[in-house]
Amino acid sequence: MTFQDFNFNEQLFEGIQSMGFTTPTPIQEMAIPVILNGQDLIACAQTGTGKTGAYLLPVLNHISSTNKHHTSALILAPTRELAQQIDQQVEGLAYFTGVSSIAVFGGGDGMAYEQQRRGIQNNVNIIIATPGRLIAHLTSGVLKLNHLTHLILDEADRMLDMGFSDDIMKIISYLPKTRQTLLFSATMPGRIRSLAKAILKEPQQINIAISQPAVGIDQQIYRLHDQQKTPLLQLILRDSAYTSTIIFASRKEIVKSLYKELKAIKINAMAFHSDLEQKEREEILLKFKNKQLPVIIGTDALSRGIDVEGIDLVINYDVPGDPEDYIHRIGRTARAATTGTAITFVNHRDERKLKNIEQLIERPIRLVGLPDELAAIQPTHPVHADQHDNKKKPNRRWNKKKPKKNIQ
Ligand code: AMP
Repeated sequence: MTFQDFNFNEQLFEGIQSMGFTTPTPIQEMAIPVILNGQDLIACAQTGTGKTGAYLLPVLNHISSTNKHHTSALILAPTRELAQQIDQQVEGLAYFTGVSSIAVFGGGDGMAYEQQRRGIQNNVNIIIATPGRLIAHLTSGVLKLNHLTHLILDEADRMLDMGFSDDIMKIISYLPKTRQTLLFSATMPGRIRSLAKAILKEPQQINIAISQPAVGIDQQIYRLHDQQKTPLLQLILRDSAYTSTIIFASRKEIVKSLYKELKAIKINAMAFHSDLEQKEREEILLKFKNKQLPVIIGTDALSRGIDVEGIDLVINYDVPGDPEDYIHRIGRTARAATTGTAITFVNHRDERKLKNIEQLIERPIRLVGLPDELAAIQPTHPVHADQHDNKKKPNRRWNKKKPKKNIQ
């Protein structure tokens, strides 16, 4: 699908091109036809999916092709930052259309309030507002929304979390009953459904939120520094409890390096990466599937496609940058109602990524203490971005018995 398929007017199309959008994202593909069709919509979509464009494009198309003398659309957002971000996207996309917009939010000085008041009085076409400040303008009588055609609630779940429920209902009491209402939310708890029931008319529903990890996965993290990673990996792999393991690393250089290290200590593992021929990759996957190969090492490319039953352990040698990749990675185990273990190595640089993952899965991951024999391993200074970048040999003090020639 391309943006041409939506038949947007020429000026809007120019804006889309100037923003560098070439292909619609999945939420855009699904939501835009519904909105263009005039239906109400409840969409479950997270930030980063292109959800803002999904509602802005059809609304902009409508306003720019019709009447530009009134305030036609109101977008409610939980925070000043989000309101500003949305306004920036409006400015970019609407650049050639002549549609005007203003972000209205609390805080700031009297001048900011005055600026907002003037914008509102000039019948700006789109208002993007946080609920509290909008009510101030509505009750002062400056803002009249009699001609409004579109109401959009963005990050509705966060607005409810922040206690804006009454404010939203009050704002809606000022709006025409005949309008198109679009509700976007990252999650769909019961109170969002109740809100939707109260303010939407026969809405279409779209859900592109990714599913949560299977309940059968025992998720664990180890906090450690880079020099402890490979020794810990070796200890875990020697644990005979696991028969089929995937190790994920963020880059193929790390995958290759780990492969050498595991081979050196006679762990039967193979590396799966894009430098291999298609045939080689297929052979590796087949062996892994047939349980002739107990350990496979790969990047995120491996996390999406591989559908192998009976994988009992997933190890994240590093924390994926995209929290959704974490769910894809660990979803390789505990498939089809079985159980499995997912272990993630977290160094100090990856703490932020871990936090994002815990936010996405809506719970903390269990922290496991490092085995005693690894405690003595010291980090090298300065801590390298990755020990594999410069082919440094890991500190082997945890296992002095290993002859050095066996390593790398
Ligand atoms: P959002 O999920 O709305 O916060 O959008 C996330 C980012 O994706 C924003 O920086 C948008 O500018 C960008 N974006 C939205 N739609 C597209 C698209 N179709 N192609 C490329 N980038 C997009």
